[in-house]
Amino acid sequence: MWDTDLYQRILGLEKPWFVKSVDLQVTESRVDIWLEHAPGVKWPCPQCRRELPCRDHAEARTWRHLDTCQFQTHLHARIPRVECPEHGVLQVAVPWAEARSRFTILMERFVIDVLQQCATIMGACRLLGLSWDEVWGVMHRAVRRGLARKRQRVLPVIGVDEKAFKKGHKYMTVVCDLENATVEHVAEDRRSESLEAFWQSLSPEQLTAIKAIAMDIWTPYIQATIKCVPDAGGKIVFDRFHIMNHMVKAVDKVRRQEHRRLSAAGEDTLKGTKYLWLYSEENLPDKHRPTLETLKELNLKVGRAWAIKESLRSLWDYSQEGWARRFFKKWFAWAAHSRLEPIRKVAVMIQTHLNNILTYCRHRVTNAVAEGLNSKIMAIKRRACGYRNKEHFKTAIYFFCGGLSLYPR
Ligand SMILES: [Zn+2]
Repeated sequence: MWDTDLYQRILGLEKPWFVKSVDLQVTESRVDIWLEHAPGVKWPCPQCRRELPCRDHAEARTWRHLDTCQFQTHLHARIPRVECPEHGVLQVAVPWAEARSRFTILMERFVIDVLQQCATIMGACRLLGLSWDEVWGVMHRAVRRGLARKRQRVLPVIGVDEKAFKKGHKYMTVVCDLENATVEHVAEDRRSESLEAFWQSLSPEQLTAIKAIAMDIWTPYIQATIKCVPDAGGKIVFDRFHIMNHMVKAVDKVRRQEHRRLSAAGEDTLKGTKYLWLYSEENLPDKHRPTLETLKELNLKVGRAWAIKESLRSLWDYSQEGWARRFFKKWFAWAAHSRLEPIRKVAVMIQTHLNNILTYCRHRVTNAVAEGLNSKIMAIKRRACGYRNKEHFKTAIYFFCGGLSLYPR
């Protein structure tokens, strides 16, 4: 078998295309394959499929293909151009590559697979013998394809979360499908517009089909949602972990204030106790338990703050809203009269937003899945060794977390 026949078969080339010649350069570990087509063939216009004669040829182009053993393999061809009465002069489609790609379809699929498996983008570049820009080109195209192919589907449970993009409080808004754990939307900042753009991308049917939206208590998100989502009042569920996080921070504030006061009086009772108070009781490591028990006996302010925080967690155990309200009323009286200002402040905040905290009784959703995706996003950020811009970062999030159909066809 001639090398041209061999490549004809392994490339799966079909008429009118054939392999004209194969050039193997052993010292450079490289195979170059020249493709040509039979003369007198009619070609379909890429826009309307009308059959047209070849007008002329575009400049010769090169596509990187899968390696042949250890040899980098490149295809070369001059693509015919047709002159369509309706669409003008255009290059025809070739079966081995997508328009404007510098890779064959098989190679592009392989790059996508390697990227998905690689710990770093640079690692993928090295493995594939491609430049950073080439790999990014494949990622961008893959994401563009994936987003274009995306079908409208129902998203009953949605999570909205903010993600710090860089130090210095630059944020991105990330919207997740909490049932499938996929990122559906990434937008800059955490303003009302950041989220509105997503709601506006949904059809009226999709908006109506939303059952629950988990989010932090963050006014711009609340406003955007109330503006765009029908019956948002019954659908927004303020994330319990975010609320507990506010509470934990309040406990820490009480501890710092008390520690400062005690230290000034020469007492270091609270020294090194920061993390003791932040754990939820059942997660406290055993080695800290005796210390906590001793400290609880001392009638400290932080001890009271801690007890109020721990008690609040029961709020999410109720499945009946009425019972949850009764519980909250008692808890609120306790917190409000605790004479612990940070605690009182959070209690008031919770009271203000209670209706959409208790929606949890009906929709037991939290952003925990989104938080899981967030750690995936953090990992993406790390392994890209610094993204040159937000667009790259967005692309990577969609590429790795979007659940998209990425391959060329
Ligand atoms: Zn046409």
